[in-house]
Amino acid sequence: MIGRRLFCTCTCAAVLAPAGVRAQAAAPASAGSAGPALVEDLVAANRILFDQGVVDGFGHVSVRHDKDPSRYLLSRSMAPGLVTADDIMEFDLDGTPVDARGRAVYLERFIHGEIFRMHPAVMSVVHSHSPAVIPFGVSKVALRPLYHMSGFLGAGAPVFEIRDAGGPATDMLIRNRELGRALATALGDHPVMLMRGHGSVVVGPGIRQAVFRAVYTEVNARMEGEALRLGDVTFLNEQEAAWAMETNAGQVNRPWELWRKKAMEGR
Ligand code: MN
Repeated sequence: MIGRRLFCTCTCAAVLAPAGVRAQAAAPASAGSAGPALVEDLVAANRILFDQGVVDGFGHVSVRHDKDPSRYLLSRSMAPGLVTADDIMEFDLDGTPVDARGRAVYLERFIHGEIFRMHPAVMSVVHSHSPAVIPFGVSKVALRPLYHMSGFLGAGAPVFEIRDAGGPATDMLIRNRELGRALATALGDHPVMLMRGHGSVVVGPGIRQAVFRAVYTEVNARMEGEALRLGDVTFLNEQEAAWAMETNAGQVNRPWELWRKKAMEGR
């Protein structure tokens, strides 16, 4: 009985529908409603990242679904500074929305799904084009922790070269699963990775940590550019960076509450 059903399903699918069509036609099942507090944090994260100058009209932040690790939550395609709870959509790790209802989705959602797939401890992903970071992705100067708030930068942020995975003629976007997988592989255990000529990805074990890191990645980049103009720079060594990161991990709610209040005013 079971054997016959399996046989029938496989045969029909293989014969009747090419892979791409099948993937689009079958919307994955929902994992159910995410916790309201998680959705609230995701909305706040969008507003904070805009208010703190990490994202502008572009960039996005996701969080892993609290009821199913193979689902994540991400806004529909829109400016993060305008996101409300109604704009939050659920996706499977392939980047297929559970309930699209005609809503546009981010071209680069594969960044999120492939990182969540490859890195089970990652609970939240920020992708941005925050401006001060860009020079460190296109020069030989590494983005390294200049002060204790950015200890999570450790020994320095790696740079993703899209030409290695996509060849010399992409539009620079992570617009499919293959490029997403290459990006997730290059990320490894790093919390921050720059994308040459594009931006960065920042991940965390929670959405507040990811936002904290995204904000201080941009601040560190701004200050590192200034410090390098002054001359030789002393960076945190790896032990200092590791201890500073551990201390700050317990302090994430303090700036979050401040940033959240400011970002949500006048909504
Ligand atoms: Mn982008």
